[in-house]
Amino acid sequence: MLLIKNISQLVRVGDSSPKVGPQMEELKVIDDAFLVIDNGKIVDFGKAKLLNDEYKFAKVLDVHRKVVLPGFIDPHTHFVFAGDRSEEFKMRLKGIPYIDILKKGGGILSTVKATREISFNKLLEISSKRLDAFLSYGVTTLEGKSGYGLDKVTEVKQLKVMNKLNKREDIDIITTYLGAHAVPKEYENNSDSYVDYIIKEVMPSIADENLAEFCDVFCDEGAFNYQQSKKLLKSAVKLGFKLKIHADEIINTGAAQLAGELQAVSADHLLKTSKKGLISLKNNNVIAVLLPLTAFSLQEEYADVRKMIEMGIPVALATDLNPGSSYSQSIPLLLSLAVMYMNMSPEEAINALTINAACALSKEKEVGSIEVGKKADLLIIDAPHYNHLFYNFSVNLVQKVFKNGKLVFNNDLKNRKIKGD
Ligand SMILES: [Zn+2]
Repeated sequence: MLLIKNISQLVRVGDSSPKVGPQMEELKVIDDAFLVIDNGKIVDFGKAKLLNDEYKFAKVLDVHRKVVLPGFIDPHTHFVFAGDRSEEFKMRLKGIPYIDILKKGGGILSTVKATREISFNKLLEISSKRLDAFLSYGVTTLEGKSGYGLDKVTEVKQLKVMNKLNKREDIDIITTYLGAHAVPKEYENNSDSYVDYIIKEVMPSIADENLAEFCDVFCDEGAFNYQQSKKLLKSAVKLGFKLKIHADEIINTGAAQLAGELQAVSADHLLKTSKKGLISLKNNNVIAVLLPLTAFSLQEEYADVRKMIEMGIPVALATDLNPGSSYSQSIPLLLSLAVMYMNMSPEEAINALTINAACALSKEKEVGSIEVGKKADLLIIDAPHYNHLFYNFSVNLVQKVFKNGKLVFNNDLKNRKIKGD
């Protein structure tokens, strides 16, 4: 049994349901608090003066007036990939259009080529390294998508890498099959046949082997249209997948409506979504996952989060870590952008990266808030008030990370990750 004491603010966040509208302003903070962990779970917490003196603690951690938060949850990443597109990033800075980058062999298909060529073990190691940065920023659960193989063997390789890392690493990984990320070269100008290939050849074996919990599709201009996306996702439901959609990033394709119609767990991006699409999200309790680091990296507009919150749509935030449009695990930058450029309040941003993000992965019963019985996934923030996460902007204030009650990252020791206790 571990006691964490002398907590200046215990940010409970909430219970196990998504926050909507004005609820996104609430964080349920307990000042001067304690928290007790046993067997990897939260077993008690409250005001310091109410601590039961019959407990027998094996360990006591005095955090000296710091903030305790639930671990952050990143519900949208593409962290398993090979290759290096830093030259392409430089071309983008010079204003070279994406179409010319493609002609020079860049773009998503260059990542596909590299991911097809790399061995399983090498892919595992480079992906594992990307998780270390996430953990250092306090991410204790994240989603990872396939979608850089497109062919069956590489999609399976990506998903197996994630499943292996989930067992090995100190972050829970929720896996998503995103075969419909792009149309591969083999099916150039024949995307309908590629959709049939996914439905007949790939999806059933991924379901059989239980490699992914979610199925996702990039429903947008230059990717897959409304009809194709609908066909794919309907087949996915039959096989037992939960649904996500990359929706309306470039143009309004009706993807948000589709997300509502098919009761997807989340719809992500949502830059060009129509009013009708937003109403569909609201009426079907679909979580809107917004990706400010992508907008920042592409120097593009941010999603209209104020309108979504006003309409009562539950909003979550994610990094969208990927090799093209958002190569960053930076939670501090993400939080800064949310409050500075999207006009979210600090409370809304924290809710969006904890309980609402858990809801976007259907994990709200296990993680995302501080409740008795939930996993002891906790962050010690080196500040007396959660406001500092925004005030001391873009700086990593995460001092310690606990995963299932175990200390897995300790910034006191000059960024050295502590294995074990
Ligand atoms: Zn994405």
